[in-house]
Amino acid sequence: MAMTQPKPRVAADVRSVSVLGSTGSVGCNTLDLIARHPEKFSVKALTANRNAALLADQAKAVRAEIAVIADETMLPELRERLKGTGIKTAAGRRALIEAAARPSDWLMAAIVGSAGLEPTLEAVRRGAIIGLANKECVVSAGEFFCREVASAGASLIPVDSEHSAIYQVFDFERPDLVERIILTASGGPFRTRAIDSLKSVTPEEAVAHPNWSMGAKISVDSATMMNKGLELIEAFHLFPVPADKIDILVHPQSVIHSMVEYVDASVLAQLGTPDMRTPIAYALAWPERMPAPSPKLRLEDIATLTFEAPDTERFPALNIARDALNAGGSAPTILNAANEVAVRRFLEGGIGYLDICRIVAETLAKVPAEPLISLAQVYDTDKTARRVAESLLKN
Ligand code: NDP
Repeated sequence: MAMTQPKPRVAADVRSVSVLGSTGSVGCNTLDLIARHPEKFSVKALTANRNAALLADQAKAVRAEIAVIADETMLPELRERLKGTGIKTAAGRRALIEAAARPSDWLMAAIVGSAGLEPTLEAVRRGAIIGLANKECVVSAGEFFCREVASAGASLIPVDSEHSAIYQVFDFERPDLVERIILTASGGPFRTRAIDSLKSVTPEEAVAHPNWSMGAKISVDSATMMNKGLELIEAFHLFPVPADKIDILVHPQSVIHSMVEYVDASVLAQLGTPDMRTPIAYALAWPERMPAPSPKLRLEDIATLTFEAPDTERFPALNIARDALNAGGSAPTILNAANEVAVRRFLEGGIGYLDICRIVAETLAKVPAEPLISLAQVYDTDKTARRVAESLLKN
C-alpha cells in the first residue's frame, strides 16, 4: 500500500523535536542544523546505542530533556557525564521506545537497521511528523508500517536524498499522471573497479564512498548497491506507483537526487550538492523550508553530468531486491534481515565482500516468503531470516 502525501499542518513557532540515533551520521547532521537555529527548536529526547560520551555532549549542547542509551551497561557512564545538568537519563530497549513515545512535534528516525522499527512505530502511533532516514524499517514492515502511518495520521517525510527529491516533485494529487520514478544512484566506490578484484575488497575500501559521508552499514550497502535495492522497496511504499514504474539510473556525480517522469514526457528533478543536511533540513522544516549550510550547487563548475544503466552483473543486489519486491509478502523482510547480518559480519572481517549478496540470496531461497498478515509476523520473519543467515555464515 503506497502512502499519500500528508496534509501540511500549521507550523508552530518553536518545533519540539526528538532524534533517535542522534550519535550517528544522520543524527549528527540533524543536530548540526538544530544547533544553528536554537530559536526554532526545543529538543526533547536524544538516543544512542553505546556512544555515551557523544550522547552526553549532544544532550548538553542542545539542552535535551532526556538522553537514552540502548545498551544498559553504558548507563552509569551516561549518568556520570550528565550529573548536575538536570538532563534525565534512561537505558534499554523499553526506554528507547518510551523516548519515541514522548510528546514532540517532530522526530528523526535515524537508528540504523530494523532495531529502529519499534521506536519509530511508537512515534508514528502518536501521530508525529517523522523524518524518515531508517529505510530498513519501511523495507522490513512495508505495508504494515504505512498502514500505521495512515491510521495514526502521522506524516512521513523522507530523508534519503533520493526519496526527498521525489517527494519534492511528485504530484500526490494526480499520481496517475506519473509515468515513472527514476531513482538515481552514484554507483558507489566499485562502479569501475575490475570485477575479478571485487572478492578482495576490504571493509575500509567498501565504506569509502566517493560522494557521501555516511555510517558504516549504509556505506557498505552503497558499495554493493543493496542500498539502491532497499531504496527501490522504500520508494514503492512511499509513492503510489507500481514497482515496474520505478527505474534505477546510475549518475556518478550525485547531483540529480532523483526524478519523476510524467505522461507528457516532462521530467522533474531535484538537484543539489551531495550533503545530507539539505534533505534533513527539508524534513526538519517541512512544510516550510529552512537555511542549510550545504555547499551551493554551481553547475558551471561541475560542467558535466553523466548517466549510465546499472550493471546488474557487478551489482547482483539490484536484481535480488527487485525480485524480493516482486515476490512481495515477507520477502523484503527476509532480504533486509539477511543483509543486516551479512554486512555486520563483513565489517567484522568474518566474510568477504562478495559473500554479502550470496548470503542474502541463499537466505531468501531457504526462508519461504509468505503473505504478511501481522506485525508480529514481521518480527518473527526477521528473527528466522537472521537465524538462517547466521547459520549460512557458519558454513
Ligand atoms: P550510523 O551508523 O552513523 O548511526 C546509527 C545510529 O543508530 C547511532 O546513533 C547508533 O548509536 C544508533 N544505533 C545503532 N544500533 C542501534 C540499536 N541496536 N539500538 C538503538 N540505537 C542504535 O548510521 P547512519 O546515520 O548512517 O544511518 C542511519 C539510518 O539512516 C540508516 O537506516 C541509513 O540507511 C539511513 N540513511 C543514512 C544516510 C546517511 O547519510 N548516513 C542517508 C540516507 C539514509 P551509537 O552511535 O551509540 O552506535
